Amino acid sequence: MPTRTHLYRYVIILSVVLGCCSFSNATYVEYFSDNGYGNPVSTLQHPAAEHYQGVTYVAYSGPHEDPYVAAYDHTLGKWIGPVHAGVNPMGKSPDQVDPGELDNHGRPALIVDRQGYIHLIFGGHGGEAKFGQNSFGTPGKGRQIHVVSKKPRDISTWETLENVSPFGTYSQWVKMSNGDLYLFYRHGSHRSDWVYQKSVDDGRTFAPEVSIIKHKAAAGSLTVHDSWYAWFDQGKGDTITASYVYHPCANPGHNAHRNNTYYMLMDCRDNSWSNVQGTPLKIPVTKESADKLTLIQATGTEKSNHGSCHVDVEGNPHIFFRFPGQIRYYRWDGKAWQKPTTIGADYSKGTDGDFIIDSPLTVRALLTQNHDGKAEVNWWKTTDGGLTWAKEATLFSRPDVGFQATVLARNAHPDAKMLICSKDPKQEHLYHPMFLIGEKGAIGRPADESSHLGDRLETIKAMPKSQSKAEAKRRKKAGLADDDS
Ligand code: ZN
Repeated sequence: MPTRTHLYRYVIILSVVLGCCSFSNATYVEYFSDNGYGNPVSTLQHPAAEHYQGVTYVAYSGPHEDPYVAAYDHTLGKWIGPVHAGVNPMGKSPDQVDPGELDNHGRPALIVDRQGYIHLIFGGHGGEAKFGQNSFGTPGKGRQIHVVSKKPRDISTWETLENVSPFGTYSQWVKMSNGDLYLFYRHGSHRSDWVYQKSVDDGRTFAPEVSIIKHKAAAGSLTVHDSWYAWFDQGKGDTITASYVYHPCANPGHNAHRNNTYYMLMDCRDNSWSNVQGTPLKIPVTKESADKLTLIQATGTEKSNHGSCHVDVEGNPHIFFRFPGQIRYYRWDGKAWQKPTTIGADYSKGTDGDFIIDSPLTVRALLTQNHDGKAEVNWWKTTDGGLTWAKEATLFSRPDVGFQATVLARNAHPDAKMLICSKDPKQEHLYHPMFLIGEKGAIGRPADESSHLGDRLETIKAMPKSQSKAEAKRRKKAGLADDDS
């Protein structure tokens, strides 16, 4: 028969066990933050994430369309942030519930410099006219803003560096092996040149803009203006690749149409540009010279859209371009452009993402897709140079939502390949959970650490219902929403 002391001991042991259980049962969620806002990420503003010395840094649009940065320490298994890193001049207060009210162009792109400082570029949709003469195009909205962390490898505090043009949008960082930073962007609203600015001192100063793709009134037309959408990345050695599509902009006005696919590259040793065959190009490239020397495929009335581009060990480009509901893979085999192929036709809707080249014939693509009522993040692989693609592992999936992709994290850790956002089409507000996806799925965190909305959702619920969903639809149809201008 147990004595009183024995019973007492049992109670203590039981309490300790229960205490431990309740501690270890702290609710974990798969997202690291719930404050992605609007269209918080894209494959166009890139990189969105970089792994540097054991930590993956991610950036996205949060409340007020401001840039937010979070960091995952792979050694400690711990999330830091998200931290508010700047103010987007296009942000609106209070919180909007109509997607047509958001601009989305000012999403942040992130890069870590040689010394470990974290840089963001954000806030631009061509820059307002009040900033002065735009000698490379037409003014737009917002202001291209460059901020940097005050300390290396520390996202807690940020400062603004006034050293890049305010007239930027679709801003993209390219970091070379020697640490040189290139900032590529469109210098204004949709009727503007694509330019770059170069920094050899870790982003503290930048050389003036160099125009590389020219906007102008279309030859022989009073109603069309030559415009472009482009994507840049480091190529083999000291080269930078540019893959792009043409935008025959209605003049006056604007439309959402784009077509054709193009490719060229820069030799950073002398800043010269050439086409895939090595023929030198005079920059800025015009519609006429692009059609003659850099055209991959004339797509006619079929709408093409930017994707990512990487080169293999031989320097040959492999490129994604997006078409309605699908991604097509293009490859230069050394002599010619191979016939483009669609990756996973049955999984087409919502497809976006990026890829890794293992060898000229072996390529792995990590794609956000919709399949069987679920949004998925899937690996696809080809071993025959893209002629056929087979689905590999699904890293992450959720029912009844859509995913928004980014390009692969720079120098990605296996556990943290891609930052994505999950969007529920049924919800009445514009806040979305953010996920960092790797080989083990999403890197989650305790629920009480992942909520960063405060009372925003309650405040939104108390607001009068929006009458403007029809207006948002109209804007989208007219090609005025999001990435279309
Ligand atoms: Zn346009």
